[in-house]
Amino acid sequence: MTVGTRTRVLISGSGIAGSSLAHWLARHGGFDVTVVERAPAFRPGGQAIDVRGPALDVAERMGILPSLREHATDMLGMSVVDGSGREVYRSTERTLTGGELASPDVEIMRDDLNEIIQRACPGGVAYRYGDWVIALDDRDEEGVRVAFREAPPETFDLVVGADGLHSAVRAAAFGPERGFIHHLGSYLAVFTAPNFLNLDRWQVFCRAGEPGAEVFGGVMSARDNSESRVYLGFGSEEPLEYDVRDVAAQRRLVAERLTGAGWEFDRIVKYLWDAADFHFDSMSQIHMDSWSRGRVVLLGDAGYCGSPMSGQGTSMAMVGAYVLAGELKTAAGEHRAAFAAYEGELREYVAGNQAIALTSRQRMAAEVDGTADALDLPRLEDVVHGLRLKDY
Ligand SMILES: Cc1cc2nc3c(=O)[nH]c(=O)nc-3n(C[C@H](O)[C@H](O)[C@H](O)COP(=O)(O)OP(=O)(O)OC[C@H]3O[C@@H](n4cnc5c(N)ncnc54)[C@H](O)[C@@H]3O)c2cc1C
Repeated sequence: MTVGTRTRVLISGSGIAGSSLAHWLARHGGFDVTVVERAPAFRPGGQAIDVRGPALDVAERMGILPSLREHATDMLGMSVVDGSGREVYRSTERTLTGGELASPDVEIMRDDLNEIIQRACPGGVAYRYGDWVIALDDRDEEGVRVAFREAPPETFDLVVGADGLHSAVRAAAFGPERGFIHHLGSYLAVFTAPNFLNLDRWQVFCRAGEPGAEVFGGVMSARDNSESRVYLGFGSEEPLEYDVRDVAAQRRLVAERLTGAGWEFDRIVKYLWDAADFHFDSMSQIHMDSWSRGRVVLLGDAGYCGSPMSGQGTSMAMVGAYVLAGELKTAAGEHRAAFAAYEGELREYVAGNQAIALTSRQRMAAEVDGTADALDLPRLEDVVHGLRLKDY
């Protein structure tokens, strides 16, 4: 229900998408915002992610760009090694996670970015940790009746699914995940470890194994070289059946695939058992014909995940939040008009960014072989900058 003239909004998920939307709605005013997050507290973890193109403008408009630059990873470069540890490529001009070093882009740890966004929130947003949506009943004019795992049911004017690749809001409003998810053929685990390779603002990437049983992984120093962020991955043409909530089983799965694979993989695997921020997921995308249904709308990975292979998930989430909040403000209570305008603004930008993921491996291989100039693919700069932000 609308309390006076204020619109009650429930945001499910406090990742980059949910936190950014809460920020903008609080800033515009006229919204009572509740964020419900499944994790028991602020969620740490994640590798370095990139803020690029229009997402930099969003950060500037949020007033957080100087803070982002201050907390940037500050990498000096990268090496690619083979399974025996032999360096086959070295660059001080680019990194695997961040792209060109001499660019205005900001590469920052995912959790640092989220903390900065949440700290800059103007206030008045209620964050509820350790709870989640279990059912939605969209009653049209009356609003959406929401049942939670812990809290008593409540009615909201709008519900936003910003709860990631395996969104519960999407499942409740649009149907099972299998209708929207596209598996890109690999799996990735990310976690924190000591800086056991003594890297100095450097990252090392390795791909090893036979076709069909390929593994890959990387280590980058983080937080002034005091720790490293690690990722381990493996290929699997077919999607695997696994419980997305069973972290112990996911640790075992990654250890089985990577142990004995060469380079430093055995050493890295030892650190995965105790990593508190261990995060594992498939490299997948979400494609949907529409991002809204009735009073429910999807934002970020929940609606248009690009996968880590796109390197653009975070920028899409920040830009999506800015546009959705802006259109809700402009539409002054007409949520259908706001959701249609949100899609109209973003569809092309999202499609271009999702397409990057499908060629990212080819681009990296060409970089290592020195044949990148001959590649006949859309220029990344054109895709990631392919949206002019409106003023709201
Ligand atoms: C721990 C973690 C580590 C990551 N590491 C990387 C990385 O290294 N590289 C990379 O490219 N991308 C990474 N990602 C994905 C990346 O953060 C997103 O692609 C991007 O930032 C868009 O964010 P999002 O907010 O849409 O989704 P997400 O970042 O996935 O955030 C979704 C949030 O919703 C919460 N949530 C999930 N289910 C529910 C539910 N039922 N109810 C309420 N809340 C729920 C999650 O706990 C999470 O806080 C990571 C995501 C997470 C959660």
